[in-house]
Amino acid sequence: MFRSFFLYLSASSRTRKTLMALPFARRVARRFVAGETLDDAIGVVRRLNEKGILVTLDHLGENVHTEADTLRAVQDYLELLDRIASTGVKANVSLKLTQLGLDIAEELCIANMRRILERAQQHGNFVRIDMEGSPYTERTLRIFRTLRGEYGFKNVGVVIQAYLYRSEQDMRELASEGANVRLCKGAYMEPPDIAFPRKADVDRNYVKLMQIFLDEPARARGAYVALATHDEKMIVAAQEFAAKQNIPRGQIEFQMLYGVRPERQEQLAAEGYRMRVYVPYGSEWYPYFMRRLAERPANVWFLLRYLFA
Ligand SMILES: Cc1cc2nc3c(=O)[nH]c(=O)nc-3n(C[C@H](O)[C@H](O)[C@H](O)COP(=O)(O)OP(=O)(O)OC[C@H]3O[C@@H](n4cnc5c(N)ncnc54)[C@H](O)[C@@H]3O)c2cc1C
Repeated sequence: MFRSFFLYLSASSRTRKTLMALPFARRVARRFVAGETLDDAIGVVRRLNEKGILVTLDHLGENVHTEADTLRAVQDYLELLDRIASTGVKANVSLKLTQLGLDIAEELCIANMRRILERAQQHGNFVRIDMEGSPYTERTLRIFRTLRGEYGFKNVGVVIQAYLYRSEQDMRELASEGANVRLCKGAYMEPPDIAFPRKADVDRNYVKLMQIFLDEPARARGAYVALATHDEKMIVAAQEFAAKQNIPRGQIEFQMLYGVRPERQEQLAAEGYRMRVYVPYGSEWYPYFMRRLAERPANVWFLLRYLFA
């Protein structure tokens, strides 16, 4: 109920307008968003890198509706990749296909992605395609495979959400293709005919899906999984499975969001695991911020405390 309410608000343009105009909301959003400019973002990356933490940078934006806006988004990502290279910070890039024209035309989206991936390739960098709501799952996976198969890009990865029933089949296929996948639980509102409604089932599926990728045959084919979760139970399950399989800690990648469990992020990095933090920046912070509120009542109390303090 709580989760559905905030996910509903994340798509409401009226609430978006109201909240984005409130200075206090912008300040609270800074807990989860590095800032509005690339300079803000690079500053945060440097601070995380100093603690042995890697970063993936997301220039916020989604559901863009004109070709001109998609070209601006491409420009932003090219500039971001150049800046990562010129500053030498340890960061790759995450993006959403609806920012690059998926709602307009698949060909446009692919052409935009090719430009970004070519620049990333020149700099020896990597780009992760975030996974959005279920209307985009099939198309996102198709574009990912076109970029890898038809255009030969090896520096692109995708995301799978453990709450979808289809994900087990997707993970098995992606493992056999030697793909690079970020595994998360899933952040959107999905109906029970396509997604597990109970958290316990999502958690069970998450562990099952992680094991498909951490298993020896998948690793032998070059498959790589980054485990995106703040859930201690998932982290421990991964550590135990990896230890049983004799996978060195440096080959296990955990990912968390900027502003969520920062002490645990530092601890995992200090213990020798690869720790990558997802750092979003930019002026389009509203839907991202609402999804974070939907995840956890404590984050809403944080917002209210700020309001009434
Ligand atoms: C790096 C990264 C990338 C992601 N990319 C995508 C994507 O492409 N597509 C997509 O649909 N989703 C994405 N997500 C979001 C993800 O799907 C979940 O919505 C989110 O991570 C919460 O799930 P969880 O695994 O942390 O566990 P949950 O079951 O939500 O939480 C388990 C426990 O973790 C802690 N916790 C969880 N969230 C918070 C929080 N916000 N603040 C404080 N503590 C918290 C709490 O202790 C909680 O009890 C991403 C998440 C991460 C970390």
